[in-house]
Amino acid sequence: MSDLIHQIKSLSASYFEEILEIRHYIHANPELSFQEHNTANFIEEKLKSFGIQNIQRIAETGVTFCLEGKEKGKTIALRADIDALPILEANDVPYKSKNEGVMHACGHDVHTSSLLGVAKILSELTDQFKGTIKFIFQPAEEKSPGGASILIKEGILKNPAPSTILGQHVMPLIPEGKVGFRPGKYMASADEVYLTVKGKGGHAAMPENFVDPIAIASQIIVSLQQIVSRMANPKTPSVLSFGKIAGGNVNNVIPDEVKIDGTFRTFDEKWRKEALQKIRDISIAIASSMGGSCEVDIASGYPFLVNDEAYTQRNIEAAKAYMGEENVVELDLWMAAEDFAFYSHEVPGCFYRLGTRNEEKGITSGVHTPTFNIDENALKTGMGLMAFLAVHELNS
Ligand SMILES: [Zn+2]
Ligand SMILES: [Zn+2]
Repeated sequence: MSDLIHQIKSLSASYFEEILEIRHYIHANPELSFQEHNTANFIEEKLKSFGIQNIQRIAETGVTFCLEGKEKGKTIALRADIDALPILEANDVPYKSKNEGVMHACGHDVHTSSLLGVAKILSELTDQFKGTIKFIFQPAEEKSPGGASILIKEGILKNPAPSTILGQHVMPLIPEGKVGFRPGKYMASADEVYLTVKGKGGHAAMPENFVDPIAIASQIIVSLQQIVSRMANPKTPSVLSFGKIAGGNVNNVIPDEVKIDGTFRTFDEKWRKEALQKIRDISIAIASSMGGSCEVDIASGYPFLVNDEAYTQRNIEAAKAYMGEENVVELDLWMAAEDFAFYSHEVPGCFYRLGTRNEEKGITSGVHTPTFNIDENALKTGMGLMAFLAVHELNS
């Protein structure tokens, strides 16, 4: 095993400059979810230049292919997401976004270039593993319903069917040179909640003649707090947050309606359904008890993400061998959502974190901010570790 680690590390080092250039190109040319046409063409071109064949498109802007080892064996899948966000980049770097208002602020440029690095490394090492590696460059992680759910519908997990799926994501809370894992449940489900409270507007001096949607909305918001504090199992983390409330124009007029937008997150599919129903029932009942009405619109998002215990444990052991025990950390539960979750409910999955922080270089901004960036040394780990985890799994 140490021979293989040595080989992969030296290939990562020698391909580092090329993968860095690839990251810079993707970073400078970001594309929004479901619009990644140039990115997909670029990925395809690069793969061809590595001598890879049988490249296929899926869901228009997804790219996939299989790499075969020296003999038959199981199939595993490796996934990178490729889309960017509607954020105006504030970094002053030579590879700053040329697509104004669009930015790789979630590190998907890093995931894509790393997976291209993995493809280049492993296409040199096909004599070192048995079985098949399915590479998945997935569009639209950032936008519901999520590229993962569409790829699954279009058959990405069939012909051949992978026995495991692996994904990595940058993590600016973890220093460069380290990676993080968490067996079991890791990230939350996320659904969008839109309430429209309807009353009857009029002069604020004569409330007895009207139905005040602001008073109703206030009652609804306070009552819905009971869902997390009184109805949720305390052992199952849940969050209900409202990020927007809008209604009315002036102090002395009761408006006709108030809109409230929020998000519900949790770690249990049964409870998720129940909680969303309670949001609906409570909102409608309170509005009606006060003489108004409430329209409830729930946009279903991603399920919770679960890392298969046994598979994640195998990856932790392999990562310790590759990185050194001290460089593999345990992750905490994370209330954000990620569409890798869809795969994790279909096949044993492992979604781990690549440390990208460097305080000395001032690289500390969070993902989804205009100043997000990474310590680019992380790319070496990004491609090398994933290549090793793939071979380790196929040969285990
Ligand atoms: Zn993101
Ligand atoms: Zn992301």
